Amino acid sequence: MKSIARLGVYLTDIFFPPRCVACARAGFVFCDRCAQAVAPVVAPICPHCGRPQLRPLDLCSNCRSGGREALDLVRVATLYSHPLRPAIHALKYSGQPELAAPLARYFVAVAQQPPWLEILAQIDGVIPVPLHAQRLTERGYNQSALLAGAFAERMRLKLAESWLSRARQTRSQVGLNAAERQQNVADAFHADSVVAGKRLLLIDDVFTTGATLAACAQALRQAGAAAVYGLVLSTPAPAIDDDTPGDV
Ligand SMILES: [Zn+2]
Ligand SMILES: [Zn+2]
Repeated sequence: MKSIARLGVYLTDIFFPPRCVACARAGFVFCDRCAQAVAPVVAPICPHCGRPQLRPLDLCSNCRSGGREALDLVRVATLYSHPLRPAIHALKYSGQPELAAPLARYFVAVAQQPPWLEILAQIDGVIPVPLHAQRLTERGYNQSALLAGAFAERMRLKLAESWLSRARQTRSQVGLNAAERQQNVADAFHADSVVAGKRLLLIDDVFTTGATLAACAQALRQAGAAAVYGLVLSTPAPAIDDDTPGDV
């Protein structure tokens, strides 16, 4: 049965070859040329949450406003701009889960920079930011869970998806300001008691204000987690970018 399914994929690829979601070249769902053109986040960055800054600062405005204490350290891999933007959009909204593996490579690049190898050596579980059950049913998968799974496999870490869940449905973060986002996700997550004493790594796809990631970390800390780190695939450049999908 499996080989018939594989034959089906093979024949589909012959007659309908995959096209790059960013440049439409035939052959790959995200071609090498586009993959290499993705802009990494570079200094200056906020030393706590890793968001790029226009000038070197001690902390970015979000971290200075508080509410981020539950997170030990966060880094963001890439800028949310072309050609990554259409790839994330396709992963998130166009039902193309096969994009998760090629996009997880950017987490691996961050993981090789200090101090991440030392941090990851002590991580007990990799936890994706959860989707509520209803949205999971609509989308068919949690894009952050696919990214976390691909990253955990590459780094030989334990994927611990069941350790954190959505306690309630939240409205989309799109169009909300920082304070509204924080309010929207407060107490939205529930951590399993198994996280007590554990060192955890949260994975998310897009980082705007970081309110979702902070709320996840808070739930894990309340359940006794010893440390909570975060790696995020992408964030808008420091200039205001209104076309961000938000922490959905
Ligand atoms: Zn391309
Ligand atoms: Zn910050």
